[in-house]
Amino acid sequence: MISIKTNEKCHHCGTSSVLVESEVVIRIKELLQPNFKTLGTSVAVHGNRYHPICPSCDSYALGLDLVEAFPVLTQSGKITTIHDLMFMDSSLIDKKRQSLVTSLKECIHRFHSSEEDAIWWAAENEALRLMFQYLMESSALSVTPELLKAIEEDGFSDHATSVAELLEEQANRLPDADRRVVLDCFEALWQGGEDRDSQSLNMFD
Ligand SMILES: [Zn+2]
Repeated sequence: MISIKTNEKCHHCGTSSVLVESEVVIRIKELLQPNFKTLGTSVAVHGNRYHPICPSCDSYALGLDLVEAFPVLTQSGKITTIHDLMFMDSSLIDKKRQSLVTSLKECIHRFHSSEEDAIWWAAENEALRLMFQYLMESSALSVTPELLKAIEEDGFSDHATSVAELLEEQANRLPDADRRVVLDCFEALWQGGEDRDSQSLNMFD
């Protein structure tokens, strides 16, 4: 086992970072072209370069959706994959959801605190995009290849309405905790103002 002295935690969600080799990062970029959220500057570990990364915030980049995920090195020196990490620590999924809720709250705040169309429109879009991405990564949202392709080609905002419809349609099929996030977010966005007083248990209040 390789011993690693760092004890780094993710600034977003508090999960212990893992290390991913520079060479692997290159492969990830080629294959997935992800938007890394937490990829850190490389450090030398026994002669190889590794980047710290959060396995929860960047689970997609680490190959969550792939049959064979990319190898990562834990801080205890174990070589593993995102699949095994998720399996061993189901709280990772909870942390991921919490980090989503935190980001959604920011969007909802921006949405309600601006008079400018462009700002609330962007905030709404961002909220939809975050939920869509999270659900694609972590649970059974069924999306047609056509929609995915269209999003890839035109950008998310052109298809935000389709995504909103899709989330609404499929909300009842999602795991309980995910369904609550989606429905509460919709409610916080679109039934703002006085109506929200009756929803005091809403996680977005
Ligand atoms: Zn994180």
